[in-house]
Amino acid sequence: MSRKTRAGALVSLLFVSLCTLAQNKAQLRTSDTEITLEASDDAPRLTKFAFPGQPEWQNRNSEALIPFVVIEGQQTPCAWKLNSEASKVSEHQVVFVYESQSPHLRLSWEWRTRQTFGPLEHQIRIENLDTREIWIPMQDALAVDWQVDAKQPLQQIFVEKGANTPSNIGTHDVPIADGFHWTGTSSTYGDLFENQPREIIPWTLVQRNDSAHSGWYGGIEFSGRTRISIKREKDSLKAVFGLNPDPGPFHSRLKPGETFESPIVFFGGFRDGPDGAGNILRPWVRAVLGNPETWKDPNYPLVVNNSWGGGMQVNEEIAERMIRDSAELGVDMFHIDAGWFRDVGDWYPNPQKFPRGLAVISDDAHKHGLKFGIWVDWTQAGLSTQPGALNARDPKVRDWMVTDIPADWKPEPFKGQTIDIGDPEAKQWAEHEVDRIITDYHLDMLEHDGYLVAHGCDRTDHPHAAPDPLNKCVYKSSGAYFVDSTNSTDVSYHAVRAYYEIYSEMRRKHPGLLLEICNDGGRMVDFGTAAHGDYFSITDTYDPLSNRRAFYDTSHVLPAAMLESYVEKWPTPRIENFRYMLRSGMMGWLTIMLDTSAWSAEQHAEAKEEIDLYKKELRGLIRDGSLYHVSPRPDGVHWDGIEYWDAARKKGVVYAFRGSSEAEETHAFMLQGLDTTARYRVKFHDRGAAETATGRDLMGAGLKLTLSQPNSSELVFIELAK
Ligand SMILES: [Zn+2]
Repeated sequence: MSRKTRAGALVSLLFVSLCTLAQNKAQLRTSDTEITLEASDDAPRLTKFAFPGQPEWQNRNSEALIPFVVIEGQQTPCAWKLNSEASKVSEHQVVFVYESQSPHLRLSWEWRTRQTFGPLEHQIRIENLDTREIWIPMQDALAVDWQVDAKQPLQQIFVEKGANTPSNIGTHDVPIADGFHWTGTSSTYGDLFENQPREIIPWTLVQRNDSAHSGWYGGIEFSGRTRISIKREKDSLKAVFGLNPDPGPFHSRLKPGETFESPIVFFGGFRDGPDGAGNILRPWVRAVLGNPETWKDPNYPLVVNNSWGGGMQVNEEIAERMIRDSAELGVDMFHIDAGWFRDVGDWYPNPQKFPRGLAVISDDAHKHGLKFGIWVDWTQAGLSTQPGALNARDPKVRDWMVTDIPADWKPEPFKGQTIDIGDPEAKQWAEHEVDRIITDYHLDMLEHDGYLVAHGCDRTDHPHAAPDPLNKCVYKSSGAYFVDSTNSTDVSYHAVRAYYEIYSEMRRKHPGLLLEICNDGGRMVDFGTAAHGDYFSITDTYDPLSNRRAFYDTSHVLPAAMLESYVEKWPTPRIENFRYMLRSGMMGWLTIMLDTSAWSAEQHAEAKEEIDLYKKELRGLIRDGSLYHVSPRPDGVHWDGIEYWDAARKKGVVYAFRGSSEAEETHAFMLQGLDTTARYRVKFHDRGAAETATGRDLMGAGLKLTLSQPNSSELVFIELAK
């Protein structure tokens, strides 16, 4: 179903004024998610959830509100009581307000609809109305206990981040049997540290194993340390979403007047399995979390030429040559990766490489009709003593580092020591520096990399909780110092909020600016960054298989236009292999990271044609089409493919990839989303052939392809026959 047809769907709401309502109940509804809410005297509850036409899910538990706070070291119980006057029920929003008189706190339990379709959002806010500083324990964002039939087969789907390299599984599809217990975690670090499970994109889906494959999904709009857990015991299915309580105990400071905000959780219903859910969620992310300024540009997602094909070598001469070649190839943006700056933390152009600075490079790109962007690791300190540099040894900023740095420490070529931007002074410096970089270098795009949110911090004078000295670990990894302690989740809570504030401010000051979320390749892929940035580097391994695997996983939950693949040098003895390499990165946002001057004339002409095809035929479908995973996850050996179908354009495309197997010349893809009775014109781009077929054929017997070469590809365009 396209976004346009869903926009016409009816939103209705059983509106009842809280004060006249005997049972304090309210309902909120979108075209695919209906919930019933109830406010009892001492706790609120999500009582029921349903996808229209499918059996309801009944929740047995009220929300557990924090039972105590700590004031001056003393545990003080909270006595929560519904405040009906302060509570609100309106067309798109329900807020049940609970108050505790002593300690004096106000808790708002909110649900809201942001669109006529898609999931609802939920958040809990706790405001300190007391005159004293208080410390609150963990408040989960959402906890439910669904009553399920003990014999009902249930299935869970979750997807990993493409952090560093996509794993061999990536998309997990697991039965939820009696005794099932799972926890998935997310932070800004992916699987950087050994002996930790791979991080998930903070989202999961549970479906009934029946013919409708209906169920619910939920995700977290926050980039700090979060977790989702699911537990089944016979007829009970518990799900919890929120900040990660481990390592605990978590506590967070609230000064008088301050408010703790749980991560926003979205929760919605679907049928027709994970693609049914994805074709609701992706347009919802675009409409609700996406930046309207960005989506308004018909050239989004862009085609980019990035300088990392030559590593740190980039200089003015290389940049100007790349700009000329980018313009010739029809690329939309020229992107200078790491290597342009004086030093880590010293974000000024290296005068040996860029004697006239970066603004002239940007102006040159603009003259050639290109946008211009750069890589920056803006929360990293180094050792440069130049004016304007962030020097880890400078006594004025030493306290911003997450721990005291030993005297023998040195930064790596493009990685330094992370500062804690949760500290207000550090944040103020970073905000000013990011603004200066955007302004001085005439940027259209800023890519952030490195670990810009502190993993942990052992400072006792920052707004976050202090670490537990008896449960603290300081260690060196990838050339920088990291801290692990009981306060790590609270450190990330403050730093991520500072990061969001800085990026919101940059968007306000620089409309049209694009923000790339890189963070060491695919480690920060979540729904909080989706709301504060424009596109994601989805993995840090750039061969065709890794690009397709990371895309396969991530495209279950995020709009394809936001998913950037970097295409790097790969053996391409035949032109078919060259096209396969390019197209493996052309299903979402395409960034070329190759030395294009090393291409043969044939490769150059081929790339130009593919970029033209991307801009004319593929980009619109990537932006607006429904997406179907019409093969198992790519393994590089067998065939794999992705289908787009745009109901409004009455057009679609199948990206077909043949793997390395010598034996598999032919394959049939079972298409989805078509009308069984309609006739479609099927056009094989490379083969130059066309045929017609019914929707029933294409979805039943399948779309049949023959490719004579291993590691080759085809683009099959499908159009409703007139
Ligand atoms: Zn700190």
